[in-house]
Amino acid sequence: MRIDIATLFPDMCEVYLSESIVGRARNKEIFTVNCHNIRDYTEDKHRRVDDTPYSERQGMLMQAQPIYNCFNSVTNGREKPYTIYMSPQGTPLRQSKVVELSQKDSIFILCGHYEGVDDRVIHKIVDEEISIGDYVLTGGELPALVLVDAIVRMLDGVLSKADCYEDESHFNGLLEYPQYTRPEEWEGMKVPEVLLSGHHANIKKWRLEKSLENTLKKRPDLLNYNNLSENEKDIVEQLKKSNNKL
Ligand code: SAM
Repeated sequence: MRIDIATLFPDMCEVYLSESIVGRARNKEIFTVNCHNIRDYTEDKHRRVDDTPYSERQGMLMQAQPIYNCFNSVTNGREKPYTIYMSPQGTPLRQSKVVELSQKDSIFILCGHYEGVDDRVIHKIVDEEISIGDYVLTGGELPALVLVDAIVRMLDGVLSKADCYEDESHFNGLLEYPQYTRPEEWEGMKVPEVLLSGHHANIKKWRLEKSLENTLKKRPDLLNYNNLSENEKDIVEQLKKSNNKL
């Protein structure tokens, strides 16, 4: 997979993309990522990339032309990559979207800054606007990195096994079960007996029950009954009954 990020702050992105799991995946050439400085594509002799908005609002807006020049240069002579503008006005990011995007061959991500970008360039090049949440940040760099990080861990060869992410929160619409590591007892709290038993079927059953319990407790809005099996529905009903008794 190829990822291109258009930003006014490529160094900010590079630092993150060179470290840890993402950095290792990049070194192993599981994906390529290039951060392009939009300022390198301005036609202004003072290297300006922004100007005041026509709406008489305070602040500065990124101009369309440098972004368009950057996009054309990066995509020159190849099929148009799927183009995303990181924006608080976009569709909130979910794991299902991450999985979908991880199957694309090429993605171009535009990071806005200041008051955002001239709307016309969004209409010209962008396929989708994505938000990382209902709040406003100073720039699209952190949102772009959030998106890239989430996509990269879905790529083959990045995590050791698929169950590293298949059991994780949100992959199947549920939250993950609680996790424990050594020691067996800490501050008077013991690891649940079943996890020490080595009984795979019981551990699997426990994981499902705890996953449903966690979701019911922390994010009941995620529980979509139409997507639950009969067994899962039964477990949820039992959990609700025992909660009512408390
Ligand atoms: N004036 C814009 C508005 O009200 O919709 C907000 C501009 S914001 C200060 C500057 C840039 O940060 C945006 O162009 C976008 O790229 C990025 N950004 C800010 N919050 C974001 C969020 N929640 N998700 C994705 N990108 C965000």
